[in-house]
Amino acid sequence: KRPARPHRDLVYPSTTAPCHHNDNPSIRVMQWNILAQALGEGKDGFVRCPLEALNWQERKYLILEEILTYRPDILCLQEVDHYYDTFQPIMASLGYHGSFLAKPWSPCLDVEQNNGPDGCALFYRHSRFSLQATAHLRLSAMMLPTNQVAIVQTLNCRVTGRQLCVAVTHLKARNGWERLRSAQGADLLQSLRNITSRGGGQSEAASAIVPLVVCGDFNAEPSEDVYRRFSSSPLGLNSAYKLLSSDGQTEPAYTTWKIRPSGESCSTLDYIWYTHDALSVDCLLDIPTEEQIGPDRLPSYHYPSDHLSLLCDISFREELHRLM
Ligand code: NDP
Ligand code: CA
Repeated sequence: KRPARPHRDLVYPSTTAPCHHNDNPSIRVMQWNILAQALGEGKDGFVRCPLEALNWQERKYLILEEILTYRPDILCLQEVDHYYDTFQPIMASLGYHGSFLAKPWSPCLDVEQNNGPDGCALFYRHSRFSLQATAHLRLSAMMLPTNQVAIVQTLNCRVTGRQLCVAVTHLKARNGWERLRSAQGADLLQSLRNITSRGGGQSEAASAIVPLVVCGDFNAEPSEDVYRRFSSSPLGLNSAYKLLSSDGQTEPAYTTWKIRPSGESCSTLDYIWYTHDALSVDCLLDIPTEEQIGPDRLPSYHYPSDHLSLLCDISFREELHRLM
């Protein structure tokens, strides 16, 4: 029997003063590596997770329950290997538009009885946004194509009339691949610069850079080069989950926590980046405590993935020319 879903609080950082106007409601963003079914059952070796807890016919409802509990306006997923048969139709019936991009050589395909390749998926709520443009990117490193991808969509907010660019990615995993991740990050940042700078500002002066939200499993701790690249890029990005910390400068202690035959791995790999000059973070979903996660770590009967979902409410800052 599955126990009740562990409760997670929405935290309002004291540094931010959320000013909610009817004409500028916040945008709820969720980032989640949901654990590809083929990898979880066939490759990962989560030795402390009972196989029955990974059964797709039950696990899919835990994933959907978590998504539907928070009803994000934008949903960014990695390791999706049940897009066409599960997430696309269900999310469509709930009013979402979805886009999926498979990895060119998904490791899921090595698993017997796989359900197809895994990839990234990006959903937005159709009542909130209309689609302006989509880019499906295969990330390069030193000019060479890699096995990692990103989806970038430019959206128009139906409430505020403003543009928002959203990206989802899943960078190369494992130790020893730090330089590849860094190069993939550089490639993604360059694509994002190109996409957000030709974003159709109404006037010359507002040849504005489109505000950006980048969600991903970067497979990189905050100490890695690719993290530094994102936090110091000319795009002016900040990592939302730093705002959970008391000093506003520290990432959570973990976004994934698992036990494989090789040992226990507890690390911060997942991020929601946002343009800090144009957007502000109103609140974030707290990270479960070690006690809530439990001694067998993730995934488990409580938590359907080895990665935790990240969720925050983001709103547009007032534009200067709109104040004048
Ligand atoms: P990655 O190294 O990026 O990892 C793929 C997945 O494995 C990720 O989802 C990752 O999860 C998970 N993972 C990470 N660490 C471990 C671990 N210790 N044990 C089990 N799973 C782990 O893979 P690539 O995209 O580089 O693809 C590698 C695979 O792709 C190869 O296994 C090969 O089968 C296939 N391939 C085939 C090619 C061909 O020509 N046929 C060419 C290239 C690749 P997370 O992100 O959550 O850590
Ligand atoms: Ca994984």
